[in-house]
Amino acid sequence: MPLFSFNHIQNLFVKVLRKKLVRGLIGTLILLLVLDWGFPLRVNPQYSTIITDSDNKILHAFLNRQDKWRMQTELNEITPTLAKAIIFKEDRWFRYHFGVNPLAIARAATRNILKGRRTSGASTITMQVVRLLYPRKRTYFNKVIEILRAFQLEWHYSKDEILQLYLSLIPYGSNIEGLKSASVLYFQKSPDVLSLAEVTALTIIPNRPSSLRLGINNAYILQERNRWLQRFAQAQLFAQQDIDDALTEPLNVKRHEAPKLAPHLAIRLRKEYAQLPIIHTSIRRNSQLTIEKIVHNYVTRLYAMNIHNAAVVVINNQTHQIESYIGSADFDSPIDGGQVDGVRAVRSPGSTLKPLLYGIAFDEGIITPKSTINDVPSNFSGFEPENFDKQFHGKVTVEFALANSLNIPAVKMLKEISTPLMVDKLKKADFLTIKKSASTLGLSLALGGCGVSLEELSNLFSAFANKGDFVKANLIQSSEKMPAVPILSEESTFLINQILSQVTRPDLPNNYEYTYRMPKIAWKTGTSFGKKDAWSIGYNAHYTIGIWVGNFSGEGVPELSGANIATPLLFDIFNTIDYNSHTRWFLPSNQLALRKVCAESGALPSEYCEHPITDYYIQGISHTQTCTHTKATWVNPTATISYCSVCLPDSGAIQKRYPNYAPELITWYESKHIQYARIPPHNPKCTNVFNSNAPIISYPTDGAEYILAANDTPKLMLSCQAGNDIKAVYWYINDKLLQKAPATEAIFFRPESGKVKISCTDDKGRNTNIWIKVKKE
Ligand SMILES: [Zn+2]
Ligand SMILES: [Zn+2]
Repeated sequence: MPLFSFNHIQNLFVKVLRKKLVRGLIGTLILLLVLDWGFPLRVNPQYSTIITDSDNKILHAFLNRQDKWRMQTELNEITPTLAKAIIFKEDRWFRYHFGVNPLAIARAATRNILKGRRTSGASTITMQVVRLLYPRKRTYFNKVIEILRAFQLEWHYSKDEILQLYLSLIPYGSNIEGLKSASVLYFQKSPDVLSLAEVTALTIIPNRPSSLRLGINNAYILQERNRWLQRFAQAQLFAQQDIDDALTEPLNVKRHEAPKLAPHLAIRLRKEYAQLPIIHTSIRRNSQLTIEKIVHNYVTRLYAMNIHNAAVVVINNQTHQIESYIGSADFDSPIDGGQVDGVRAVRSPGSTLKPLLYGIAFDEGIITPKSTINDVPSNFSGFEPENFDKQFHGKVTVEFALANSLNIPAVKMLKEISTPLMVDKLKKADFLTIKKSASTLGLSLALGGCGVSLEELSNLFSAFANKGDFVKANLIQSSEKMPAVPILSEESTFLINQILSQVTRPDLPNNYEYTYRMPKIAWKTGTSFGKKDAWSIGYNAHYTIGIWVGNFSGEGVPELSGANIATPLLFDIFNTIDYNSHTRWFLPSNQLALRKVCAESGALPSEYCEHPITDYYIQGISHTQTCTHTKATWVNPTATISYCSVCLPDSGAIQKRYPNYAPELITWYESKHIQYARIPPHNPKCTNVFNSNAPIISYPTDGAEYILAANDTPKLMLSCQAGNDIKAVYWYINDKLLQKAPATEAIFFRPESGKVKISCTDDKGRNTNIWIKVKKE
């Protein structure tokens, strides 16, 4: 028996061969992996940024960094017609090969050898994509590289994605690349709505982009188009009827400008989403265009008053999306910087934060709508706010104070709830400038002493329409749900909504009833200090609309006011986009109930309260104080002398009830000569010295520094608030009597430089001291 039989040798040979084959395959695979790792595909086509509306139609398009129109064709824009036509024309086996078509290469190679010239017939769509991504000279070596790259592309991308890349990169002459760019710039539509004739025209141009220029060689393109349509017919690619229709379709296109709508928003989003070729916004095209027109026309009418700009935001309260975004009256206007984005500009909010302020106070249980508050001159450590109309209204209800946007009650309310609490709520509502400057904010915050943007304000008001939950409105379509941050309770927002929808307000536009057939809305106006900004923010369950009117230059205008200038525009826009809507008004929640309160104070009626009225309150939250609007006082039978417990005679005195007004209100009544039931003067024979209820020095301010001109004869005013049974007070400067004066009268004195002690003693001996510093220039 031989050592090695033939079979043995054969087996050995097969074994070796198999081993080699396996090794070879593994080797090739490793080589490919190393190549793929060492030479990764860089697919970064630098598309033109496209901004779409809520229907995914182009609102605005930007040139890419190489100043080319290279718009990305989206997968859903590649219709079966388009895919069929392009694959039939360019690469019939596209769906089946793995990057190269060996048969086509063999055929082309034979042809090259036979005819001695090179043709590009062997290129698949994949290889064309490689060439568009990495343009190279046409050499055999580069061809090999292209083939390897084609494999790589097929390895990493699906067929649909490769087709998408192809359609997005093919040339159309001039600076136009990609079928979508051509479709938009010539046919003014997106690829998914092109007709068969249009698709055919667009598929033939990339082969000869310089000789087949749309708008220039239309007749020739038409001829070529119809030639290809006939070939499609022969191949039975489409129904004959469709081909016949396409053959008769004329071709009268020319190049158009790229869409440039909603420019402020487009510029903003391109920056914020720099990595996205297509940004899908929530903008409703029709409302956007209509409001742009309304704003432009409205501001044109204000030119004569030297008012040049306005900005508008429309938020859909149900979807929490921004549906219109108008940054200025005219983007292209060089007057007053049309390109400034008024939606994001930081301005002073005027009175527009007051609803939040009162809302917080409702939730703190401090007030209810019928609670009363004194609108009288007040001094908050040197801060002496005035009302918009320079008038004071005395005792008013909270709902009156808010509806009429009174300043003193708002500052008092902020003092009561504390500035940090208000700032905390504003931070939760994503007010960025307020976040940054939180530590510097004081009581002036109630009147707009801070920086806000129209977008921030509109988002805040949208929370009033959303049961007090703050949801930041989205600018782009997103499946991601924004978090809801509770700012106010549902009960509190309902109270705010009721007050802000009263149609008996001074900030209602003139002829409101005749001009507008408005849906019911709640709204708040604001005018910043120096009349630089007019605001009006309105909402119902459906929309929140924010309006700003003013000059980007910051120039103030005497006529500028939220009520007269911004509100008519708000009503116009609401009337336009929400006309005839059937949105229901907000309903009170279960925690909100009605109760009887005293009309004089808004507190629960005592046995002496004669005018009970109905008021809302939040169960378990709102205060339950009993009214003390009157107090019992011992007087003589003719009510000309009052007594205290020390001087009360054993007989002959009677008890009478007098209004229990705060000293500040009495001071104001006296200064305005308003009649009220005064407590008779206190028994002159009384020996009691009262320690409480000393007069309050309302001016100057304790601890303040006053700088006075040295040359002329400067005087400082002295005024105080004393109880309503006080007739006269004694003013002392540095413990020396200056003057006796009626308690309600201001007097003047000439101070020395340096530290000055000021004392005020009433006719019952109750005394208050303050110290000020006086400097002379
Ligand atoms: Zn009462
Ligand atoms: Zn007495």
